[in-house]
Amino acid sequence: MSIKKVTQHPTQNEALIFERSQSGRIGYRLPKLDVEPSNIDEIIPAELRRDDDLDGVPEVSEVDVVRHFTRMSTWNYSIDLGMYPLGSCTMKYNSRLNEKVARIAGFANLHPLAPEEESQGALELIYELQEDLAEITGLPGVSLQPAAGAAGEMTGVMLIRAFLDKREGEASKERRVMLIPDSAHGTNPASAALAGFTVKTIRSTAEGLTDLEHLRELCDHGGVAGLMLTNPNTVGIFEKNIREICKIIHQAGGLVYMDGANMNALVGVARPGDMGVDVIHLNLHKTFSTPHGGGGPGCGPCLCSADLDEFLPVPRVEKVGDKYRLNYDRAHSIGRVKAFFGNFGMMVRALSYIYTHGAEGLKEATETAVLNARYVSENLKDVYDKPYESDCMHEAIFSHKNQSKKGVVTLDIAKRLIDYGFHPPTVYFPLVVEGAMLIEPTESVGRADLDAFIDAMRDIDREASDNPQLVVDAPHTTRIGRLDEATAARKPVLRWKRDMESTAKAA
Ligand SMILES: *Cc1c(COP(=O)(O)O)cnc(C)c1O
Repeated sequence: MSIKKVTQHPTQNEALIFERSQSGRIGYRLPKLDVEPSNIDEIIPAELRRDDDLDGVPEVSEVDVVRHFTRMSTWNYSIDLGMYPLGSCTMKYNSRLNEKVARIAGFANLHPLAPEEESQGALELIYELQEDLAEITGLPGVSLQPAAGAAGEMTGVMLIRAFLDKREGEASKERRVMLIPDSAHGTNPASAALAGFTVKTIRSTAEGLTDLEHLRELCDHGGVAGLMLTNPNTVGIFEKNIREICKIIHQAGGLVYMDGANMNALVGVARPGDMGVDVIHLNLHKTFSTPHGGGGPGCGPCLCSADLDEFLPVPRVEKVGDKYRLNYDRAHSIGRVKAFFGNFGMMVRALSYIYTHGAEGLKEATETAVLNARYVSENLKDVYDKPYESDCMHEAIFSHKNQSKKGVVTLDIAKRLIDYGFHPPTVYFPLVVEGAMLIEPTESVGRADLDAFIDAMRDIDREASDNPQLVVDAPHTTRIGRLDEATAARKPVLRWKRDMESTAKAA
């Protein structure tokens, strides 16, 4: 039997589990059959049994499996490994306490079809979280059903549409324009288009704010259903004219939707409801510290003013006396937006986060998040181009303007940061800043980590002058350097086939 040569050390490339396969290796033995083998035809009919001798399934031992996956897990950067400064994503630390609470058996094992009277604790938790989020945003209507920020947006613009349709009847068909600033997250126009609106783009000013003149002009054209605004906006600046903006939209007969993905700059300090906003979504997986990324379950609550409450998704969780009940009987509801009640485990973690912080703690987290971003902004602005003058909120934005003169662009800086042990920031977003780097440290990093990040960024700037090729060729410390990312995204190789082995070797 020929023993295949496979690499063994964690610093070397890891072969696929299929390539590790050695004929005859076993990782698990089933107990001896306790039925007569002659009976097998009665128990499992022949047509349901496979006859290919498990061809193609890797044959590996338990230790092969454990080491293979453990090695690969060390290739990942994660929030438990270090700072993760992805702007707009609010990659804050996920507290272990929240995980512990989410694993309490009564929450973790509760079946979504369990009767109301046996689910009182879970319903109370949903109700309490709704109350707390209403208090935090200043908007009384809440649905925790949407499974992500984008799903919350979709729910929110559907509420706006239902409200306008009820108010204006047939005439509402003429009111289908959704205004969205040019700095917005791509999900905003996508949600508006899915809900049947036509999107018109509002320009930003040189200050990085919504251009009020252009907003008025677009409103004068008529047909405005509403505005979708992120605040602080995606360049990290607070829209100081938010009251005026809301007034202009309301006078035009529209409603104001706020993308609340950036609420980590506001929680405990300012409330969108008080600013004149009608609808908002939150990202519990950003602002309220529930795990985030990898496509896992999220929660994007949608909140609205009392005028829009009747349109919220069903079922509503209501409190009657000291009991909680589910109300499906709402004539004007837009219906369900998610099976059952949404991603309940995320709600448990978010309420745990809120309770462990308390009102004062939430405010302090916000203030620290803003302070950390301003610290980064102040300590890098002499070497990196800061495109807007005003102080940032919870994220610092830079462009590659200074370094690109030496042939080093944002992508190179991001890749070089990996060599310094940092996850890169968000790059090339928002689109309104050429070569954007959007850095959001969150409140979860201390001074020492911020300083290390700042030092790395300053070193890279120096390298861009002294040895630009070093930066352009980065990363140097990873197993794989620069990928052809377009091909990887457009033509991903998702299945290993036996004959790929020889192809891979030849390459
Ligand atoms: C993250 C984000 C979204 C979308 O949230 P998902 O949970 O990823 O769907 C929308 N808008 C902004 C500004 C965001 O940062």
